[in-house]
Amino acid sequence: MCLYSVSERCSRVTKKTCYVCGKENLEKNEAALNQKLFGRKVVRFYCYECLAEFLEISTEELMAKIEDFKMQGCGLFE
Ligand SMILES: [Zn+2]
Repeated sequence: MCLYSVSERCSRVTKKTCYVCGKENLEKNEAALNQKLFGRKVVRFYCYECLAEFLEISTEELMAKIEDFKMQGCGLFE
């Protein structure tokens, strides 16, 4: 059995948790941003704060990025 396909299926039904700080129930846009940046099959999710730190930008810049993606019509965001 392919383990990868199992974890992918699970990641859709389980709540997304920040890989770094353990923050639970990441927002839809929060999770979507991870998918946008790291690919749709991403298995480790970061919350806004940890993602901003990881990318070495401010959370404000991160929010601006989400707005940019929305403007581009990216269906991952709401
Ligand atoms: Zn976090």
